Amino acid sequence: MTNTPERKPNVHRDAPVGSVDMPAFQEDGTPYEIWPCHDCLPWHAEVVRSEGEVLVREWHAVDCPLFMELIEI
Ligand SMILES: [Zn+2]
Repeated sequence: MTNTPERKPNVHRDAPVGSVDMPAFQEDGTPYEIWPCHDCLPWHAEVVRSEGEVLVREWHAVDCPLFMELIEI
């Protein structure tokens, strides 16, 4: 038994957030589906145009496990 408290990721509404850009469409034109993140509360998304390309910018808590997965790619 250790007394070290498990560090819980900070995914509360006031957690620091980071963004990841996703293509809005797949190569065959299928739209990218946007689902609210189950792993963090500050999640939101915006649609941005970058150099003529439409991108979906997802914002997650920086500690969000899904966010970490997305930015690892
Ligand atoms: Zn998230």
